[in-house]
Amino acid sequence: MNAPVDDRLTALRGSAQRRAYNARSLAALENNPRCTLRALLDASGSDKAAIAEHAGYPSAFGQSTFALARGNAFEALVKANGYAELLRVLRETLGLTVPEVGNRDLNDVGGDSRQEIRHTHTTRLLVKAAQGSGDSTLYDHPMLRLTVGGYAVFLEPDLVAFRADDRFYIVEIKSFPIIDGQADPVQVKSATTQACAYVIALRDMLRQAGIDPEAAVSDQIVLVAPKDFTNRPTAAFVDARKQVAALTRQLARLERIKDLVELLPEGLTFDLAPDGGQAQRPVEELTDALDQVDATYRPDCLNHCEMAFYCRARAREDASLDILGPEAREQFGGVDTATMVMGLARGELTPTADQSEMAIALRHAARLRAELDQAYRGAA
Ligand code: SF4
Repeated sequence: MNAPVDDRLTALRGSAQRRAYNARSLAALENNPRCTLRALLDASGSDKAAIAEHAGYPSAFGQSTFALARGNAFEALVKANGYAELLRVLRETLGLTVPEVGNRDLNDVGGDSRQEIRHTHTTRLLVKAAQGSGDSTLYDHPMLRLTVGGYAVFLEPDLVAFRADDRFYIVEIKSFPIIDGQADPVQVKSATTQACAYVIALRDMLRQAGIDPEAAVSDQIVLVAPKDFTNRPTAAFVDARKQVAALTRQLARLERIKDLVELLPEGLTFDLAPDGGQAQRPVEELTDALDQVDATYRPDCLNHCEMAFYCRARAREDASLDILGPEAREQFGGVDTATMVMGLARGELTPTADQSEMAIALRHAARLRAELDQAYRGAA
């Protein structure tokens, strides 16, 4: 990244310590790709939770301690006794050809758990395996790396890069249940999107070693989760092709963060002006700064972004149709706010050429609604 852009992002973040991307924040890029505010907050390493809290909209985002404990317990169970349960589901449920399993624990290298050291060690082992001379099948907690917006981001898959039939698979272990072969689609999407960041990072590592990345790393994610209402694991393949492609596009967009930065007003900052650990910046000044950047709120922001309550309030204030979600938003093509919708429906607003068809539909809907109201009143 070039220096002026870097300086500009540092100024946006202000005095706060830089927050690194992780698989969860990378996955969020794919969830709301049009949001400039999120792109800038993440690229500048700003602390979104602290900003939202100081703006008066603390985030309810993040996993509960109960969910974390449940997730850790399930992961331990799947890995117990030399990965016995994991191997069973990979063989029985997915029919993968799993030969004798050699396992590599990459949590540290001879007691050294620094990210750079672990990454170098991971690279050496995984490249060797991809070249066909590795001695292992399971690589537990490999340390991967991606360059995102000019910064190195270390990513650590929950479990495993797993090698079967000459390909690596990323395995995601999650504690939400698969009931009668179905899991909650929102949770599956979130788990898969995180795994996509690992697929991209692993492919990147192998590409740099001259290995065909698409052939070497599957874009089928292996999801391991509790079966029905038991603690017994089951597994499913999740096709992540589209999500890998979408996240790759978003990462490329971050490389072009320069274009977004250039549109910002001079001197814009999200600094909280802390003193003695307490944010001192006047709240109005902070919200004025945030309001100067486009945010495309949608209901599922509540699942993946710390700024969601702030952006929802802002969308409501602007009477933005974003609040209804992208599907409903698209139905109103060319009409941006609830105020415009009502104005066109009541015939109080002259439609532009682009809005004329929508205006006819809205007036028709308003007439039907009025007739129904009248009929209802007559019958009452
Ligand atoms: S909550 Fe706000 S900042 Fe976050 S992705 Fe949604 S619109 Fe963008």
